[in-house]
Amino acid sequence: MAIDIPRPLFKGKKVFIAGIANEHSIAFGCAKAFHELGAEVAITYLNEKAKSHVAPLAEQLEAPIFMPLDVSQPGQLEAVFAQITQQWGRLDALVHSIAFAPKDDLQGGLLNCSAEGFAKAMDISCHSFIRMAKLAAPLMTEGGVMFAMSYHGAAEVVPNYNVMGPVKAALESSCRYLAYELGPKNIRVHAISPGPLKTRAASGLRDFDLLLNEAVERAPIGELVDIMDVGFTCAFLATPYARRLTGSTIYVDGGVNIMA
Ligand code: NAD
Repeated sequence: MAIDIPRPLFKGKKVFIAGIANEHSIAFGCAKAFHELGAEVAITYLNEKAKSHVAPLAEQLEAPIFMPLDVSQPGQLEAVFAQITQQWGRLDALVHSIAFAPKDDLQGGLLNCSAEGFAKAMDISCHSFIRMAKLAAPLMTEGGVMFAMSYHGAAEVVPNYNVMGPVKAALESSCRYLAYELGPKNIRVHAISPGPLKTRAASGLRDFDLLLNEAVERAPIGELVDIMDVGFTCAFLATPYARRLTGSTIYVDGGVNIMA
């Protein structure tokens, strides 16, 4: 069957992207990719402190919606979706690129992770995606696609990834269940699993530089990935070319995950 592809690819498309902290953020790569291909992007910033770093990027992206979003603050996510509903009335794609774990719980090994730390990491890094999906789905009236950023530490043990391993495993599983529940509405859901990237979130992991070096050595492609690689993968998955793909975890890691 012929696939009707408009030019530019995402002309008129509306995309919500959460998780830009600075120009190194994976979410910024995603926003740039969608914007370059013609989409309008709604952007959020964590709090007043973060705003000054994100504002110039929102300007560069010509973002018509630019709002605060701390998913742990009741009402903020709802406020973002109220604005999207009012301004756009619909949504085509969303990117969740948010993760957090309290430092002691992240760095102390899984055995020492507190119940509170575990719950907080799970709430911000995983359940917030489910909340987002619930608010976004009714706006995806012409179908849509949702992305959440995972990491290979979900599937295999990566030293120092600690509590984020089980949290990302839950996130990937949530993507599969959401894909199942939203499939009948023509909404597709993917976990994206990038290789290591030097970002602010990554700087919270012990010995992260070793992980970067190891990724270059082990990748069949022999290079680290960058944020645009992640962004354009999401963009591809948002096109009709990928219309029969849903629920899977897509690795953007130069092939590291296939290596023993
Ligand atoms: P980043 O620090 O640029 O982005 C993390 C974002 O999470 C920040 O924008 C931060 O404001 C946001 N965030 C944290 N707590 C929040 C809250 N309560 N409410 C709203 N936003 C909150 O780092 P990044 O590496 O771009 O991380 C983005 C995603 O990619 C994360 O899910 C991370 O686990 C994942 N990831 C990163 C790597 C890597 O190597 N950097 C690899 C695979 C997956």
